[in-house]
Amino acid sequence: MKKGKILFSSILTVLIGILFVSFGGTNVKADTVNSYILGNKIQPAEIQYREGTFDQWFGYENGVGKPEGVVVHETADANATAENEVAYFNREWPSLQTYVHAFVDNNEIINIHSADYGVWGAGHTANYKFIQVELCEVHDYDAFARSLSNDAFYIAKRLIQYNLPDIPGQTVVSHHQVSNMYRETDHSDPDGYFAKWGYDMDQFNDLISYYYNNLKDSGTLYGNANNSGDDNKATVLSVNNDKAIFVPLVSFDESGNKNDVQNRGLANNTPWQYDQQKDFDGHTYYRVSTNEWVLDTYVTSFS
Ligand SMILES: [Zn+2]
Repeated sequence: MKKGKILFSSILTVLIGILFVSFGGTNVKADTVNSYILGNKIQPAEIQYREGTFDQWFGYENGVGKPEGVVVHETADANATAENEVAYFNREWPSLQTYVHAFVDNNEIINIHSADYGVWGAGHTANYKFIQVELCEVHDYDAFARSLSNDAFYIAKRLIQYNLPDIPGQTVVSHHQVSNMYRETDHSDPDGYFAKWGYDMDQFNDLISYYYNNLKDSGTLYGNANNSGDDNKATVLSVNNDKAIFVPLVSFDESGNKNDVQNRGLANNTPWQYDQQKDFDGHTYYRVSTNEWVLDTYVTSFS
């Protein structure tokens, strides 16, 4: 990797395994599923390309082969595998008026329509912008982790294939975000299903970013094992808050306003890698997660 380049992928290797502590005294391990995936270096399935029955071939608003990102869906069907869903939608799409590019579960990634063309998954506007992938429900922790790995791998590969940057909320959007943006559907997946596992889109975006950056930088999902780490030494900071058991975090909205992160903080005396910094109101803030920043006064050292 190039000198001076700051990698989000290397952030996560420090980020994972470190406890977030919640406000209000209940401890949560917010990143455990990602930690499990990265710790075990879970290998995603191969992407299978099977021509489906959807016969509506339309380009995106920017043209054939020009998607603008990926919509993350969840099937809301407790008992259907990716194979089951593929068979069902190949048979029923004319009556359901619904079709997506791919279904993913813990065992398989099945692509059924060329991502050069749009599908019917999230309302007219989104259908003309985005590749769409459905995550199938599973019932145990390991299967959930494997299904996320497959889904994140599919999304990262697609972003890279179409030369798209990885921008949460812009090039990677949940169906819920699409519903909020365009008001053409009222679905809120995958948030409810993720929440059952203590998971959310921010964490999923962390996983996608990790895969995306590693694939771009090294061509491998989990990076090069013998990386000396010298390039990244200057990007690690340690934090502490004398007045509480955690260090608060803030986020910045699209208008640049600062907001307190309500449900998460950093454990005291823990090291973090950061990939960006910004000046705000006479202080410097360091980015330690997708949209989570720590104030300079909590930083005890850089290493
Ligand atoms: Zn959906």
